[in-house]
Amino acid sequence: MGSFAAVSSLPRRLEGKIALITGGASGIGECTARLFCRSGAKVVIADVQDELGESVCRDLGSEKASFVHCDVTDETHVRDAVDSAVSRHGRLDILFNNAGITDPLRPSILDTPKSDFDRVVAVNLAGVFLGTKHAARVMIPRRRGSIVNAASISGVVGSASSTHAYVCSKHGVVGLTKNAAVELGRFGIRVNCVSPFGVATPFAQKYVNMPAEEIEEALGRLGNLKGVCLKPEDVADGVAFLASDDAKYVSGHNLVIDGGFTVGG
Ligand code: NAD
Repeated sequence: MGSFAAVSSLPRRLEGKIALITGGASGIGECTARLFCRSGAKVVIADVQDELGESVCRDLGSEKASFVHCDVTDETHVRDAVDSAVSRHGRLDILFNNAGITDPLRPSILDTPKSDFDRVVAVNLAGVFLGTKHAARVMIPRRRGSIVNAASISGVVGSASSTHAYVCSKHGVVGLTKNAAVELGRFGIRVNCVSPFGVATPFAQKYVNMPAEEIEEALGRLGNLKGVCLKPEDVADGVAFLASDDAKYVSGHNLVIDGGFTVGG
């Protein structure tokens, strides 16, 4: 009874929306796919991890979620992912450009191969460019749509614990978000980004080679805001707000979700 009341009072702010989520097989993207479905949307998950992505979709139910293999660095894949969302559901309302990677942290720029830099920029920045381009292609004729990009606090400040490639790629995402918002606004398309502080997803666990609880403890010490811990659900909430009509006049915005970390400490 109690749980029925809780479920039935969930806001259905994305009722009827069709969303494509890159990197939706894991971490923040997976969590966002789950929240979007609970909020009334249908999602298409586009990822390179086929088995994981397909199992998330099975769990969400085939009516609500489907999977498409997509490497966001490959324009053909991105074009096909957008087209598959449209052919399945008739349109695309929301794109969450979330797929992201980092290269290993090395002692110095002197030790960093250019191939590492190129790979991170290709996924984190060129991937967002390609997603935005192909979503715009199908959104422009409908004169509406919402694109949300995954940036980071590394798109706001530099840090000795982030790689040069990662920081550059995320600063680039913030810039691309602004520029795309300028161009696409005249077609009724909004473009925003979210910039989370650290979240103990598989991405973070692999990067620092620590279990989730230790990462959260370390982030708790580092953060400005004490007594709370940033979870993937909190980022998904921010994405859902920007994606929804609740944010109907918000565009070109970087929603920083960092407990005040980037304003000083
Ligand atoms: P994650 O590793 O759990 O999920 C990322 C997903 O992207 C994975 O499913 C992966 O398979 C997919 N992916 C990677 N390369 C891809 C490619 N070329 N094409 C398609 N999919 C690809 O990581 P996460 O922590 O959930 O990160 C999601 C986003 O949030 C990333 O852009 C990341 O930079 C950003 N972010 C993460 C944190 C954090 O601390 N976890 C903080 C700020 C921003």
